[in-house]
Amino acid sequence: MVMEIRTGPEQLNAFEIAQRQFDEAVEHMTLKAGVVKMLRLPKRELTVNFPVRMDDGSVKMFTGYRVHHSTVRGPTKGGIRYHPAVTLDEVRALAMWMTWKCAVVNIPFGGAKGGVVVDPKGLSMRELENLTRRYATEISILMSPDGDIPAPDVGTNPQVMAWIMDTYSMHKGHSVPAVVTGKPIEIGGSQGRIEATGRGVIFCIEAAMKRLEMHAVYPNGLEGARVAVQGFGNVGSVTAYLAQDAGARVVAISDVRGGIYNPRGLNVRDVIRHREETGSVVNYPGAEGITNGELLTLDCDVLVPAALENQITAENAQYVRAKIIAEGANGPLTPTADAVFADRKILVIPDILCNAGGVTVSYFEWVQGLQYFFWQEAQINEQLRAIMNRSFEEVWQTAQQHKVNMRIGAYIRAVQRVHDATVIRGIYP
Ligand code: GLU
Repeated sequence: MVMEIRTGPEQLNAFEIAQRQFDEAVEHMTLKAGVVKMLRLPKRELTVNFPVRMDDGSVKMFTGYRVHHSTVRGPTKGGIRYHPAVTLDEVRALAMWMTWKCAVVNIPFGGAKGGVVVDPKGLSMRELENLTRRYATEISILMSPDGDIPAPDVGTNPQVMAWIMDTYSMHKGHSVPAVVTGKPIEIGGSQGRIEATGRGVIFCIEAAMKRLEMHAVYPNGLEGARVAVQGFGNVGSVTAYLAQDAGARVVAISDVRGGIYNPRGLNVRDVIRHREETGSVVNYPGAEGITNGELLTLDCDVLVPAALENQITAENAQYVRAKIIAEGANGPLTPTADAVFADRKILVIPDILCNAGGVTVSYFEWVQGLQYFFWQEAQINEQLRAIMNRSFEEVWQTAQQHKVNMRIGAYIRAVQRVHDATVIRGIYP
């Protein structure tokens, strides 16, 4: 089949892409029209403009968002992003994707997302704390352990979650650990949460390699497989070192400043050390410098885009040489890229399945926080493995039955669950 040649510029608005994916899935399903209309839109959206006192004594205004897409299957869940390019439409898309993600792995949450338009690297620790505490206060009208539970995302980390938990708890007069997940272990964080997203990505890649019968070339799972990872934040770095631990050759890694390539394989923990010392993976000795764009089209078996949205598009999809694309990031492929990969028989493990390990262990953390009863890491990782493997198989089977790609397969499963819950609850009043 010859790909349709696009003439106009590709649509890169994340929310429009999320709606388009939803619409495509709905075409394969028999659903109540009213529920479909409801699920295309976020339930509620909050925009906050708030002041932060800077180190030089001046006051700066910042804009932040918190969007709840759906509360039908439980409290809303989703991270908070600090990034200069955050927009309301991006947060809407990310919130909607959280609804489907929680439903794909069948944990009892709806979807939410938050964001602040800020480059956190440009702030001192004190400014970051001031911004976080004020933003947390602003969104506390939506946030609660049984209503909406934030977590880390791009540009935020366990320390930021600790400040959010502390701010919320100060207002309540007692500690409320379950109001946020991805916290440091010392204050009720879960074992295995830091690694959870990357670990889930690895489980998915291993399941995909089995399904594609790649054992003919790689008989022991990831052992010997060539992996390239775009993005070296929490998801990219953990995925890279767990891949290496499983015997893979991690041939390329990149961060926002650029990438490094060594066809014999990089020592990922040493790259992490280099990044800690210099602030970036670039100039790592013993590797060739490459751009982020070049990383995506390298000769490899598994490509893990673990940075931001819209990295693989109409422009570069035809040059990708991987056999499996594992979406560590949310929304790294455009719909045109999806069509190219369906055509070229490249397997895409979609974000709402592939990176769902993070929110799955967030769910474990939330349960532990509500019960003040904490689990061992082995138990966490085992339960995560069971959920990821089961979800992968369900999505694979659904995609086969409907003759669609895995993204639409994942949507079909997720949308059906949210749809059915909505029908059973009924439309109020
Ligand atoms: N930000 C992560 C995601 O996009 C984690 C969300 C959570 O743990 O609530 O899935």
